[in-house]
Amino acid sequence: MDVSHLLDGLNEPQRKAVAAEEGPLLVLAGAGSGKTRVLTHRVAWLVQAYSYSPLSILAVTFTNKAASEMRGRIEQMLGFPVGGMWMGTFHGLSHRMLRSHWREAGLPQNFQIIDSDDQLRVVKRVIKNMELDDSYWQPKQGQYFINHQKEAGRRAADVHVGPDPQQQQWVKVYREYEVHCQRSGLVDFAELLLRTWEMMHNNEVLRLQYRERFRAVLVDEFQDTNSIQYRWLKEFVGSQSHIMVVGDDDQSIYSWRGAQVENIRKFEKDFRGTEMVRLEQNYRSTSTILNAANAVISRNEARMGKTLWTDGEEGEKIKLYAAFNEVDEARFTVDCIRVWVNEGNLRSEVAILYRSNAQSRSFEEALFNAAVPYRVYGGPRFFERSEIKDALSYLRLCLNHEDDTSFERIVNVPTRGIGNRTLDIVRQKARTSGITMWQAATSLLQEDLLTARASNALRVFLEMIDVLSAQMMGLVLHEQVEQVLAQSGLLEFHGNAKGEKAETRVENLKELVTAARNYYRDEEVEMDPLSAFLAHAALEAGEGQAEAWEDCVQLMSLHAAKGLEFPMVFLSGMEEGLFPSQHALNDPTRLEEERRLCYVGMTRAMKQLYISYAEVRRLYGRENYTSPSRFLKEIPAEALKEIRTRGGGFQSTWRAQDVDPLATGFSLGTRVRHDKFGEGVVMNIEGKGEHTRAQVNFESAGVKWLVLSFARLTRL
Ligand code: ATP
Ligand code: MG
Repeated sequence: MDVSHLLDGLNEPQRKAVAAEEGPLLVLAGAGSGKTRVLTHRVAWLVQAYSYSPLSILAVTFTNKAASEMRGRIEQMLGFPVGGMWMGTFHGLSHRMLRSHWREAGLPQNFQIIDSDDQLRVVKRVIKNMELDDSYWQPKQGQYFINHQKEAGRRAADVHVGPDPQQQQWVKVYREYEVHCQRSGLVDFAELLLRTWEMMHNNEVLRLQYRERFRAVLVDEFQDTNSIQYRWLKEFVGSQSHIMVVGDDDQSIYSWRGAQVENIRKFEKDFRGTEMVRLEQNYRSTSTILNAANAVISRNEARMGKTLWTDGEEGEKIKLYAAFNEVDEARFTVDCIRVWVNEGNLRSEVAILYRSNAQSRSFEEALFNAAVPYRVYGGPRFFERSEIKDALSYLRLCLNHEDDTSFERIVNVPTRGIGNRTLDIVRQKARTSGITMWQAATSLLQEDLLTARASNALRVFLEMIDVLSAQMMGLVLHEQVEQVLAQSGLLEFHGNAKGEKAETRVENLKELVTAARNYYRDEEVEMDPLSAFLAHAALEAGEGQAEAWEDCVQLMSLHAAKGLEFPMVFLSGMEEGLFPSQHALNDPTRLEEERRLCYVGMTRAMKQLYISYAEVRRLYGRENYTSPSRFLKEIPAEALKEIRTRGGGFQSTWRAQDVDPLATGFSLGTRVRHDKFGEGVVMNIEGKGEHTRAQVNFESAGVKWLVLSFARLTRL
C-alpha cells in the first residue's frame, strides 16, 4: 500500500519521527513545532505502514477535546473510522479500565466518581467524624495531602512519616478517607489513576492481556505526566510494545499537581535504545511573537535547551495595553474583537487567556453587554452548578444507596423537615457502627429511636429514593432524569422561587434532561447508561458547554490553553502578584514555572498577540494598585507597541460609536452616583420616557438595572 501521503506536509525531522522504527521514541521540541501533528501522523503510519490494528493502539492526550480532534484527523488520513482505538486522557482511560474490571479493582460495580468539590466535602466529613477541629485541621489541606500522596502512588499505609505529629494526623485522615470512600463506592480523580495502576501492577494476567493488546502506546504533552501517570504507562508497555512520547520541558506547567519534567530524562533510561528526535522549526507564530516568547523563556535556568526558529512572516508587533482597571481592560479587549470580527474574521479564532479563572467574570460581562457570543472553558461548569449537582446526587443515590456524599447533599434539599439534629443522630450512628448513612437511617427507623416527626420525614425520604430506584428500571436515561427532577421536588422547588437566578436554575435542570437525551455512550464499555452518564458528568464536564455550532470567542485559563492555537490571543492581567502569581514572587522554582506558563500563553498566538495589564484591579473582592509583570520587561522593546489612550483612562476607551446620548441626559459611559449603590458607569440604556431603564456598573454594588425616573442618578 502506498503510504507516502502520510508524510505529506511534514519536514525532514518530522518525517523521521513519523516513519521511525518501532522502538521507543522521544520527540522533544518547542511550542508549535508540530509535535501533536507528528503524533497524529504516527498513529496513521502505524496502522497503514506497519499494519497495526486500531484496536492495538493506546493514545493519551491532555484533554478530551484534543482526543476527539486527533481521532478526526486520523480518520481523515486513513479514510475509515477508528472507533475501537483507545484515545483519551489518563483519567478517562483509567475510568474505562475500572468500569471493565471493577471486580479486579476491588470496587462495587456501581462505583461513582467524585469531583474535587465532592472530595472536599468527604474530607470535611472525615475530619469531623474524627472529632478534629476543622479550623486547625483544614479540609482543603487534607485534600491536598491526600491527592499529593495518591499522585506519588502512595496509600495511607505507604506514607512514610517521621516524628512530625501533624503529618501523622494527616495520614490518619487519609486512612479514614480511604475507608469512607471504599464503603460508599466513591472514587476521586487521583484514585482513578492509582487504582488502575495497582490493578495492573498486581494482576499479572490482566497486565499481560493488555500488554498483548496494546502494541503501541503514544503520549502527547509528556512533560506534564506525574509520577503515578508515568508508572501507569509502564504497566501498559510490554517488551514487545512500541512507545512514543512527545513533549516540551519549557511547557511543563503542572508541577503543582505533581508533574515531573524529570520523566523525560527518566524515559531515556527506562526505555533502552530510545530514539530521540528534535524539531526546531515553528509553524505557528509570526517571527515577532516567536522571538518574544523565546526571549522570555531564555531567562529560565532549568532548561534542557532547545532552539526554535521560523521562516514565517514577521507579522505585526505585539500590542501592549495599560488599562485603568479590569473593566477597562475588558472593554478594550471587546473593542479589539469587534474590529477583528468586522474585518470578516471568526470569533472562534480569538482566545482570551488569564492566569486565574476569577478573571473571566469581567470579560464575560463586557462580552455579554456587547452581545458578543463567548464560551468559557473550565471555571464554573454546567455539571458543577449546585442545582445540577443536587439532581445528580439524587440519581447517584438511586443507583447506590451507600453513597454518603450524595445522601448528605440532598437529604434535606428541597427542605423536607429533616433537621440538623436528626442528621447528627444519623451521622453518629453511622460513625459508631461503621456503616453508611443510609444503613444508619434505616436502622434508626427500625429501632424507633427518633421523634415521631423526624422519623416520619426520614421515612418519607428513604421511601421516595426506594420508589425512584425501582421506577428507574424500566426507563430510558432521559426519562430517568425527568423522573428524578419531578419526584424529588427539585423542579417544583426552583420553579416556585422568584427571580432571575431561580429561572436559570429551572432552565439548567431542564437542560440536564437534554444533556441526558443527547448523551452519546461508548458502546464498548459495559455499563448501564445512567452510570455512564454520571461518570461523564463528573469526568468530562465543561470542555465545551455552549452551543457547539455558535461562532464564539474562547475564554480560558492559561493552563487550559496548552496545546491549542489561535490567530488572535489576548494575554490579560500581566501584573506582579497575579501573573506571576503572588505565591511565586519569592520562590525561584515557582517563578520559573510561571515563566513557562507565560511562554505557553504567548506561543498560542499565530498572528496577533495582545498583552494587557490593569493599574488598578479588583479581584476576589479586593482592590489593588498593581505594577506591570516582570515578564513584560523580558520581552524585547522592539517587539512591543504600546497602545494607551493617555489622559483618558477608563472613559477614553469608549469609542465614538458607543456613545449614544439620549434624552435622559445620560450616555453610555457616563459616570454616575446613586444614593445607595455609590459610583458607577452607565453601560446600557433602553426603553422610552418614564420607562427608560439604564444598566449601571457600580464599583461596589455590581451591575444593576435602574428605572431612571425612580433611581435619581446624578452625573459626575
Ligand atoms: P504545542 O507545543 O503548542 O503543543 P506542537 O509542537 O504540538 O505545539 P502542533 O500543534 O502539532 O505543534 O503544530 C503547530 C502548528 O503548525 C499546527 O497548526 C500545525 O498544523 C502546523 N504544522 C506543523 N508542522 C507543519 C509542517 N511541516 N508544515 C506546515 N505546518 C505545520
Ligand atoms: Mg501539541
